[in-house]
Amino acid sequence: MSNSGTRVLIAGGSLVGLSTAVFLAHHNVPCTLVERHPGTSIHPRAVGYYPRTAELLRTVGVEEAAKAAAAGFEQHKTRAGVVSLAGEVLFSKEELAGGDELTDLTPAKLLLLPQDRLEPILRARAEKLGADLRFSTELVSFAQDANGVTAVVKDADGTESTLQADYLVAADGPRSAVRESLGIRREGRGVLSRHVSIAFGADFGAVLGDRRYSVVHVKNDTVTGILVHDDTLTEGTLIVGYDPEKGESLDDFTDARCAELVSAAIGSDAVEVTIRSRFPWDMAELVSETFVQDRVLIAGDAAHQIPPTGGYGANTGIADAFNLAWKLALVLAGTAGSALLDSYQEERGPVGTYTAQQGSLQLALRSGTATEEQRAATDDAMTVTMGQAYRSGAFIPEAGAQRLPLTSDPRTLRGEPGTRAPHVVVERDGTPVTTLDLFGSGFVLLAGADGGSWAAAAAAAGSALGTDLAFHRIAPTAERGALADPDGRWADAYGVGPAGAVLVRPDGIVAWRVTGAVPSGEQGAVLEAALRRILAR
Ligand SMILES: Cc1cc2nc3c(=O)[nH]c(=O)nc-3n(C[C@H](O)[C@H](O)[C@H](O)COP(=O)(O)OP(=O)(O)OC[C@H]3O[C@@H](n4cnc5c(N)ncnc54)[C@H](O)[C@@H]3O)c2cc1C
Repeated sequence: MSNSGTRVLIAGGSLVGLSTAVFLAHHNVPCTLVERHPGTSIHPRAVGYYPRTAELLRTVGVEEAAKAAAAGFEQHKTRAGVVSLAGEVLFSKEELAGGDELTDLTPAKLLLLPQDRLEPILRARAEKLGADLRFSTELVSFAQDANGVTAVVKDADGTESTLQADYLVAADGPRSAVRESLGIRREGRGVLSRHVSIAFGADFGAVLGDRRYSVVHVKNDTVTGILVHDDTLTEGTLIVGYDPEKGESLDDFTDARCAELVSAAIGSDAVEVTIRSRFPWDMAELVSETFVQDRVLIAGDAAHQIPPTGGYGANTGIADAFNLAWKLALVLAGTAGSALLDSYQEERGPVGTYTAQQGSLQLALRSGTATEEQRAATDDAMTVTMGQAYRSGAFIPEAGAQRLPLTSDPRTLRGEPGTRAPHVVVERDGTPVTTLDLFGSGFVLLAGADGGSWAAAAAAAGSALGTDLAFHRIAPTAERGALADPDGRWADAYGVGPAGAVLVRPDGIVAWRVTGAVPSGEQGAVLEAALRRILAR
């Protein structure tokens, strides 16, 4: 059996595995991804990415390609209920308006793009950045010890080989064999219902006319289901449920039965239907009791199965990968202690549980069964995806500060440690830039107009700990060596005074801050101590 090595092995090459490969490669971490299918996913599944996800994709140079691919879906914003595509429209509702109303909060917009279109973009980016992606390759087994992970993988010919890695990221989906083999249990409401997504080809453009839908709820005598269509108006997916307790099973969905259901959903016998494939999935609320076990890190649906109502699964999985990649990079470089990886569980575990519950609440709302209490507990999508305040992890909470709820409206956050560093438009040499574009590689220290002496502290702390630590002073007007904040928004948005400073992690989360002045002779030591703690050194 041949033997090869990598720093990080990623099991699973769908949305979250590919995102992990992109983020790791962005941080120059050699990684190998194995995916048992011959290519990226052929099922659309996720169709919407919230602005926070677009911000993460922006950091690694994927946002523009994703936006270009999404152009054809720009009008697909209407959620509707119909008897059939050709029949009566029962209701019609505009989805989240797309982000124009969010410009104070984020430079990014909601991306409407089916997962099967985003995955090839991620694949291309990961390959360009040097990740080793192996399709038609399966993770057969693995073992871990204090030195690393030894995996057995099997390629398309059935040839097995071993792969050594320092860490294994399990992005192998809801049935994760990696998670199961480690005996990691899942908690939550369990499987709520069973479904099959039927991918089909059909020329339904004439039936749709000038209507474009994000999601269509279809209900007639033959079929009750959800239909999504692509921008060519020739490919779509029909999602229907089945109930094993009523004796129904996946085997019922023969090509003939699927074609009958799709035809009924389109509502016109004149449209010929070709069934492409079936994808069974469970509506479930299930979260792994831990996301970290020694050298194995669990991400995406392997870590949390979230009812797709609300559209949180893919968004949460991509955020997991973003949270994890810089930590792995610094641990592997020897810049951080391995305990930094425990913060992945501390930060993403509670978010996974909360988001899965929000998915269930959205399900209750959409199905009209929500109680008053459930309505009150349902947060809006921006709060769920952008308003997180990690409870503990790789940041330094402020002494005496009131603990924030796990999530809040992101408009109310002010640069508190453990929250997303806010978007503020500043100017560099007269050109507007968002503060978010300052983050994404190493640590960044931002200081107010009177905080120039933090520059030396940043240089000293960065060099003492062997890590990148960029420095930016933010002044009210254009000055040499400073970013300008002509609107005077930065200090308020980051909750600091003119002598204050804010340390931002590579994933754009505030790690530490001082709101007022620190004597310049003490700044180096104060900053180094903070960074040392964050890096688990
Ligand atoms: C109908 C539907 C609609 C959805 N809509 C949305 C939405 O609008 N927004 C949103 O955010 N989310 C949505 N989701 C959820 C989203 O699709 C998932 O969260 C996302 O696919 C999770 O990605 P993943 O990579 O973690 O897991 P998966 O997509 O399950 O991928 C796991 C991959 O691992 C591979 N694999 C497994 N075991 C092995 C092995 N041993 N060796 C090699 N490869 C292996 C599998 O082949 C698979 O490709 C939706 C889901 C469904 C079903």
